[in-house]
Amino acid sequence: MNHYDGDRTNADPLELEKFSQLAHRWWDPNSEFKPLHEINPLRLNYIDELAGLFEKKVLDVGCGGGILSEGMASKGAHVTGIDLGEKTLKVAKLHLLESKYRIDYRKVAVESLAKEQPHQFDVVTCMEMLEHVPDSMSVIRACAELVKPGGWVFFSTINRNPKSYLFAIIGAEYLLKLLPRGTHDYAKFIKPSELARMARNANLTDAKLIGMTYNPISKTYALENDTDVNYIMAYRG
Ligand code: SAH
Repeated sequence: MNHYDGDRTNADPLELEKFSQLAHRWWDPNSEFKPLHEINPLRLNYIDELAGLFEKKVLDVGCGGGILSEGMASKGAHVTGIDLGEKTLKVAKLHLLESKYRIDYRKVAVESLAKEQPHQFDVVTCMEMLEHVPDSMSVIRACAELVKPGGWVFFSTINRNPKSYLFAIIGAEYLLKLLPRGTHDYAKFIKPSELARMARNANLTDAKLIGMTYNPISKTYALENDTDVNYIMAYRG
């Protein structure tokens, strides 16, 4: 694993480009982003039930085209969304013309924002992003610095084991074609125990772990105890 040295950006340009190239399709619910649209109500309700989003100051790290950011705004949160993908952020901003939500989208690295606005957010979300950055610990530490003491931090990512390889790469990219080939790199998947260790090192507490599963027969997603493939971890700052 590379370690962020504070001088350069903790981002992989190829990863940002991958998302930017598809960005114009971000809000098409039948596009490459279909899985994000489909999991959105589940994760949004989970976050809202734990953290109570109404009138909270929320930061969405790696916000992409804004599917979760807008969902949180719909619950009455004051949302800031950050990403380093140029086109991706442009799409997020353009979509506000249609949705009429007010979201502050900014192109800034999470590590830089942590220096600028430490302990300013009631809730920090970082979903489906850690597996795309060179140094996930650096992102986790920055999220921990951005949240107010006692606030909530949510991470979601993909577990690393033979089953997750089969489901998240072979199944999703090759068989079911839910995602374009090359979307995910198995080596960058993160076990819940590894995420827990990094979060503890960043002084986050009160871990809660829940799995996100996909049933290829019914074509539906659910939140349940099975954390073998996709999962969400919630923390208190
Ligand atoms: N969090 C959103 C989008 C997930 S897709 C959602 O769940 O709906 C992954 C996003 O992470 C992309 O928008 C990509 O541009 C962004 N990303 C990748 N590396 C990043 C980095 N180092 N800093 C900020 N954003 C990054």
